[in-house]
Amino acid sequence: MSHEEFPTDRPAVVTCGLPYANGDLHIGHLRTYVGGDVYARALRTLGQDTAFVSGSDMHGTPVAVNAEQEGVSPESFALDWHETYESTFPKFDVDFDNYGHTHDETNTELTTDIVRTLEENGHVYEKEIMVAYDPTEEQSLPDRYVEGTCPYCGERARGDECDEGCGRHLEPGEIEDPESTITGNPAEYREQTHKFFRVSAFQDYLSDFLDRLEGTSNARNQPREWIEGELRDWCITRDMDWGIDYPESEEGDDDLVLYVWVDAPIEYISSTKQYTERVGPDTFDWAEAWQESGDIVHVIGRDIIQHHTVFWPAMLHGVDYTEPRAVMASGFITLNGKGFSTSRNRAVWADEYLDEGFHPDLLRYYLATNGGFQQDVDFSWERFRERVNNELVGTVGNFAYRALLFAHREFGGTPDAPLSDEVRERIETAMDDFAAAVNDYSVREAGDAAVALAGFGNEYIQRNEPWNLVDDDPERAAQVIRDCVQIAKAVAVLFAPVAPGTCDRLWDQVGGEGSVHDADIDAALEPPAADLPEPTELYEKIPEERVEELNEKLAERVAESEDTEDEDMDIDFDPIESDRIDFETFQDLDIRVGEILEAEGIEGADDLARLVVDIGVEERQIVAGIKQLHDLDSLPGTRVVVLANLEPAELFGVESNGMVLAAGEEADLLTTLGDAVPGERVR
Ligand SMILES: [Zn+2]
Repeated sequence: MSHEEFPTDRPAVVTCGLPYANGDLHIGHLRTYVGGDVYARALRTLGQDTAFVSGSDMHGTPVAVNAEQEGVSPESFALDWHETYESTFPKFDVDFDNYGHTHDETNTELTTDIVRTLEENGHVYEKEIMVAYDPTEEQSLPDRYVEGTCPYCGERARGDECDEGCGRHLEPGEIEDPESTITGNPAEYREQTHKFFRVSAFQDYLSDFLDRLEGTSNARNQPREWIEGELRDWCITRDMDWGIDYPESEEGDDDLVLYVWVDAPIEYISSTKQYTERVGPDTFDWAEAWQESGDIVHVIGRDIIQHHTVFWPAMLHGVDYTEPRAVMASGFITLNGKGFSTSRNRAVWADEYLDEGFHPDLLRYYLATNGGFQQDVDFSWERFRERVNNELVGTVGNFAYRALLFAHREFGGTPDAPLSDEVRERIETAMDDFAAAVNDYSVREAGDAAVALAGFGNEYIQRNEPWNLVDDDPERAAQVIRDCVQIAKAVAVLFAPVAPGTCDRLWDQVGGEGSVHDADIDAALEPPAADLPEPTELYEKIPEERVEELNEKLAERVAESEDTEDEDMDIDFDPIESDRIDFETFQDLDIRVGEILEAEGIEGADDLARLVVDIGVEERQIVAGIKQLHDLDSLPGTRVVVLANLEPAELFGVESNGMVLAAGEEADLLTTLGDAVPGERVR
């Protein structure tokens, strides 16, 4: 079943996944926010009544753990980051109508209210479960407070997520060999009473919901696997202080707070509500959008698809709120072919980008259009320069400046001539492409529609050579330039969602009234002003030396942070295992020299790569958690060390037959020093 096309007569809400109040923003993080902002602006251009909201995610154990390590309260720790995000987004023209946070009064009240309703409607029950407990510190260890082994894939897992292995959400009590992340003490499991949300009762609903769901295909397809299997209930309480109190436990004897994934998505509603409280329900009615009939579009990173397509819609359905119409899940972003690494300072930080003097529109353009929204995108300064110089300067900027300068010099503005049929039709095509892109949830295609139109403009002016016509055929010259000014105006309207700052300038240059962001798509064909100011260039070329300089800066910083990290190393090592093994046990390990033949990322898995490794006696398919840590294309031919008699496991539907040995957080691959050939045993 498909929904009615945009624009609809319902209010739309576009939300961005809440940034977790736990660290600085780099340009990789911005991908989702830029995507959401472009999409919200594009909807408005189509005439859709739209609210664009988000907020900071303040709760959860990573905030509590980090605050504890810094010796500050979780609230002040999280608020500091919240303020940073709140001031950073507008610098990139990511203009939320409301940006709240999950710890504010609106969200606390609404969350309490929604959980009460879930309880009243019979969707919550109590159950005794085993939770990790540090007997030395006499402290419960929810989520990130505990580390151990993933029961599904055997990788090291932290808290409620196997983030270095299979990516599964882990329920309390599932982690094996638990220990405290704060003290390193071994933990034990103790029985405790917790609240559970009966997600399993929503299986049929969720199956139908996924049939209706729009957005990117990864968000529609991935959850199928989860909901068609055994759908498990979610534990929605945690034994800690930081969070929103479970409704019953006001002054109570137990310290249960709500699991962060309960109150986090509710912030989407709370933030919309705050917007309504500020502008009034005549401008935007949150209750109509969320409780009657709204078009809700969630823009998220693909690591939180499960939360937005299973847990969240079940919760909304359980309290009779509007279900999401679409989920747009972005792919990951790498830097020069490797993952961003906050700890290694291998990142281009949001503030740093601006300090380099680059206009936010350049990065917005890159992030929005360098690949489909759900594809992984690599950022490099080389590619950045290439796209700015070729497309923004060479196509959009060049066309607009050429056409408008000619109009200004020869005609003092827009020549008095009707728009030609050829150009009217071409602009209509661009408008149709733009509308189709919005209905297809493709921010890239929305941007491409505008750039392709500017490309046509360049070709049109080149083909008609108005500079050769002014003397011999002034009427024809006037016609050509009239057409070009119209194209420039249409580009300003259609490109504004992607490049809001520079398109506002272009809008002024074609004599547009007010701001281009108040113009709707029909303005693309409305006549430009008769008088036009002298235009200025919209974009500037980036010289090659700048790229070298920026790459050097980045390399220096990474090296610097690696040096400091080396110095810090000795305090972070795990203690040596106290249990010794005998030689025979060691001999049970069949360790072989191997050579990587193939390496490719596994679709849908954040960190996993599928390797084919020659281990002499045979070729093995092995899944390794190295996708973001290595340039996969450069791996074939690399000598590695393989544990060959590990029992096979299936990860993301791919069979893994063996283990490639690697050291440390960055998965430094073990190799051989001399000439050992694939198949030789390691002893
Ligand atoms: Zn796992």
